[in-house]
Amino acid sequence: MSLTEDKAASSTGADDIVERVPTGLLIGGEWTEASGGATFEVTNPATGEVLRSVADAAPEDGMRALDAAVAAQESFAQVPALERHGMLMRAFELLHERKDALARLMTLEMGKPLTDSAGEIVYAAEFFRHFAGEALRIDGGYQASPQGGGRFLVARQPVGPSLLITPWNFPMAMGTRKLGPAIAAGCTSVIKPAHQTPLSMLALGEILLEAGVPAGVVNIVTAMDAGGVMEPMIRSGQARKLSFTGSTKVGKILLEQCASTVMRTSMELGGNAPFLVFEDADLDEAVAGCLQAKMRNMGEACTSANRIYVHESIIEEFGRRLAEKMGQMRVGDGSEDGVQVGPLIDTDAQDKVDALVRDALDRGANALTGGERPDGPGYFYPPTVLTGVSMEARMASEEIFGPVAPLTPFTEEDEVVAMANNTRYGLASFVYTNDLRRALRVAERIESGMVGLNQGVVSNPYAPFGGMKESGLGREGGSVGIEEFLEVKYIGITTG
Ligand code: ADP
Repeated sequence: MSLTEDKAASSTGADDIVERVPTGLLIGGEWTEASGGATFEVTNPATGEVLRSVADAAPEDGMRALDAAVAAQESFAQVPALERHGMLMRAFELLHERKDALARLMTLEMGKPLTDSAGEIVYAAEFFRHFAGEALRIDGGYQASPQGGGRFLVARQPVGPSLLITPWNFPMAMGTRKLGPAIAAGCTSVIKPAHQTPLSMLALGEILLEAGVPAGVVNIVTAMDAGGVMEPMIRSGQARKLSFTGSTKVGKILLEQCASTVMRTSMELGGNAPFLVFEDADLDEAVAGCLQAKMRNMGEACTSANRIYVHESIIEEFGRRLAEKMGQMRVGDGSEDGVQVGPLIDTDAQDKVDALVRDALDRGANALTGGERPDGPGYFYPPTVLTGVSMEARMASEEIFGPVAPLTPFTEEDEVVAMANNTRYGLASFVYTNDLRRALRVAERIESGMVGLNQGVVSNPYAPFGGMKESGLGREGGSVGIEEFLEVKYIGITTG
């Protein structure tokens, strides 16, 4: 169904949001055009049709946004925590009130099925509720100096104007995961969503203004040339923090740029999650968990199971059951009822997934289901299960970011732990076993920031999210998430 037909089909309601959503830059509390009125198009990955054109910021627009954030910082730092709490809670409520419309907007620009988009709005809102609470718990210390004659006062202050860069795969949740702690901590920010999915962030900007977030506290810059717009802001020395979620490749570029002004960074980068199934696992649960870990967001998640290691005694049965379930999933336009697997984000993503599958098949893998790229329109790829994937295959070391499950057998615990750790990434991993000793032993040995023990999803606003090795620096969510936006200050006091 085309977008125009769809609009005609529904007289009121959610799809109007596409027409209503602001498309300018949010700078100093005002929606403004980019310099010269430049715009770029946002398309629906299920159809390739244009949804809206949004402002395409130039470097000077980015600097205007940063100036607004810098100007607002001092007064925002003075806003009482209870008021910041109130802003976040109002935004939480508005996200819930507008859930259906926002879900529809997200599905149209990003492709995931409507129920998944609605789930993401709830997940995204939860970061606001969580950090609203954290705003009230920012504490400090007061102690006698061990040498005598003095006191130590330790305070936590907002780190200052922050630059936030988000990816396209979770267009709302990746924004609230950064804006929640920034607002809670008293930091102003400039946020730049991915050019593929700016509309959700723009809708969020409107909500934050309605929730009473003061002008200049959250500024939104949309741009095609992300590097061109962000680099001057990073190098200006005006921003004090960069929080980035995206690829390891871009993360490394940004870390180098941040070195020029010794800017604090949080980096949520790529993953290559191993999914281990031991012979004593509950097979039904392991298959269901694998389906979640693989197919959540069409496999377009940095926590997505990328390498599935199954004990040789059960791999055949496991593969059969997984292929049956994945093969039955309904692929299509995410805005249609009953669709479980939407399109990939763009043609590059489709090309990449297809190239990885072709490479694995050329090296001797066998497709139990899927494996064939469909013809257009839309950037679809069928759920695919591969067995006999060689350790030399590209997908053994590269992030697939698509609905492809490569299965590899193992025999010994030591062997599979070594295989799991044989990667430069270390974000998430998953372990299925009913042996408590083994579960804890393996969870501790695995080099990843998060481990799902008998569970296929590790993302949770109330738990620390982040990676080891080249998967990143710092943690988001949990009680540590706000620390990333706070600076510790020690004040030494003479009393004697
Ligand atoms: P992906 O490959 O999943 O699109 P990227 O790392 O390229 O991941 O993109 C994640 C975010 O980083 C997006 O908002 C994108 O616009 C932004 N980005 C890409 N390149 C740069 C860059 N050189 N500097 C700053 N941000 C960038």
